[in-house]
Amino acid sequence: MDYISRICDEIQPRDKQSTANKPDKPACFLCEAGQTDVEADPELAEKRLVLWQDHRGALLLNRYPYSSGHLLVTPHAHVGDLTDLSAEQRANLMELIVLGQQLLTTTYNPQGFNVGMNLGRAAGAGVPGHMHIHIVPRWTGDANFMTTVAGLRVTPQAIEHTYEWLRQAMAKI
Ligand SMILES: [Zn+2]
Repeated sequence: MDYISRICDEIQPRDKQSTANKPDKPACFLCEAGQTDVEADPELAEKRLVLWQDHRGALLLNRYPYSSGHLLVTPHAHVGDLTDLSAEQRANLMELIVLGQQLLTTTYNPQGFNVGMNLGRAAGAGVPGHMHIHIVPRWTGDANFMTTVAGLRVTPQAIEHTYEWLRQAMAKI
């Protein structure tokens, strides 16, 4: 429970440009991800960090990752709970989780995954209005990697490079 709580679920900074003309309806980055056609508009997809989008929902990089390769799976529907989704929509999310796992396996080759949800503000959801699923790749001992390799400075992979790499890998799945 403590670990799941620490999987940060931050509120993403609002894009003032896109919300300037509609202050009553601030942009939801998860809705935007679901509306992003990765093939037709790769530049927008990169800006929004969307790796895959289809009728089932979207798979995107978390802009504030717990670790490199931290992915989010989101349904199209702007709803806060699993009970607001149909059985088919829930099944679609499970398929996108599998896709995300396949993508991370072919790139980061992790030894395990944490797959989880923070449903509701009290549970740590940063975007309680639009439920989503976290996929975090894990390695044995990764939590104390810094102390294990004392003397080696760990530089997190820039998110743009991560996106580029995963996007290319996605095309081969
Ligand atoms: Zn939304």
